[in-house]
This record gives sequence, structure tokens and C-alpha cells, in this order.
Amino acid sequence: MIEIFKRFTFEAAHQLSDYPEIHGHSYSVEVRCVGDAADGYVIREEVMTAAVEQVRAKLDHRMLNPIIEVPTSENIARWIWAQLSAEMPLSEVRVWRESVGFGAIYRGG
Ligand SMILES: [Zn+2]
Repeated sequence: MIEIFKRFTFEAAHQLSDYPEIHGHSYSVEVRCVGDAADGYVIREEVMTAAVEQVRAKLDHRMLNPIIEVPTSENIARWIWAQLSAEMPLSEVRVWRESVGFGAIYRGG
């Protein structure tokens, strides 16, 4: 099996019960897909890029709370998985904040 990945970043604001003040973060995301690449590809790069860009556009420069209930890194990863899982053979979605070196990995289920 071969795993491929696509990375992107977005800027967004959120509010959490333990940090009630609205504030923003720069998020990094890595979406991974796995397959046997029998024809040389797990998924065509342009197909993955187009799907990922649609997700990025829904999050970038947005307030996350109306989009994702309790928008922690964990739930952002789970939400991105739900957005993309019908379109590609996902194996993993990582969401992290480079500034603090903290993030979450969702592998479905
Ligand atoms: Zn925060």
C-alpha cells in the first residue's frame, strides 16, 4: 500500500468553553489517502487538490463555531474527514497549530 498526502493551511477564529474569548489560530492540515496505486496513483493529485480546496474555502477566515460544534483540533479533524471521506480513500486527517506544536489525528471510526 502507498499513502499520499496533501497539506494546506487556514486561518480561523473560535470560542471554546474553557477559552471563552473569541480568538484566532493558524491551522495546518494534512489529509492522507491510502491505496495500492495499481495504475500509478492512489488518487489523482488534481482531484484531491480540488476537493481539499473546497473544504479549505469553508473554513478559511471563518468563525468555526457555527460550522463545527465545539471546534477543537480533534473535532476539526473529524469534520474534515466527514467532508472528504466519500470522495477519496482517506487514511488519516491531521490538524495542528504550528505555533504551539499541538494537534490531533483522526483515522475514522
Ligand atoms: Zn483556540
